[in-house]
Amino acid sequence: VIMAEQERDRPNVLITGTPGVGKTTICQKLANKTGLDWIDVGKLAKEKNCFESYDDEYQCPVLDEDKVLDEMEDIMDEGGKIVDYHGCDFFPERWFDVVFVLRADNTVLYDRLATRGYASKKLEENIQCEIFQVILEEAHESYPGIVHELHNNTPEDMEKNLTEISKWIEDWKKK
Ligand code: ADP
Ligand code: MN
Repeated sequence: VIMAEQERDRPNVLITGTPGVGKTTICQKLANKTGLDWIDVGKLAKEKNCFESYDDEYQCPVLDEDKVLDEMEDIMDEGGKIVDYHGCDFFPERWFDVVFVLRADNTVLYDRLATRGYASKKLEENIQCEIFQVILEEAHESYPGIVHELHNNTPEDMEKNLTEISKWIEDWKKK
């Protein structure tokens, strides 16, 4: 019997973490470095109109998760995708071969989100989300055994993380 994940000849990688931890920056560089395809789920949702409503309090659209999954299914089946999103519990477990959760210290994250112009309530909640490791725990629950935590505070961290993730991808292909 051939397991579903072994049918892929390139791995599917999930890069997740609180907004501002550096997912998009790393995904972009990883895609260049590895040749895998980067999927920014927020951008895909916008392009394919996968929103069900607008949250006035947080000033952001609310994702229609089922529609996003429908849009992604065939793409993920191809393998070789790097998925970039600040949540992970609604994707099917079978989609991913590995999950990297990026982390940032709260002072670092605070500055990044303030620069991005987040209003104070949204800013505070994202800092709390990072302090309480919400996404890390969500990842461990949703993808037991394949979750790696990476600290991503400085440009040096980013270089190290790029090397580590690229190496993981190369090692996977050899198996
Ligand atoms: P996310 O996609 O997780 O919301 P971004 O990739 O957009 O995060 O990064 C948020 C901000 O932090 C950007 O201005 C980016 O240049 C900066 N940044 C990301 N990673 C690092 C890092 N390792 N060191 C310093 N700055 C970083
Ligand atoms: Mn992003």
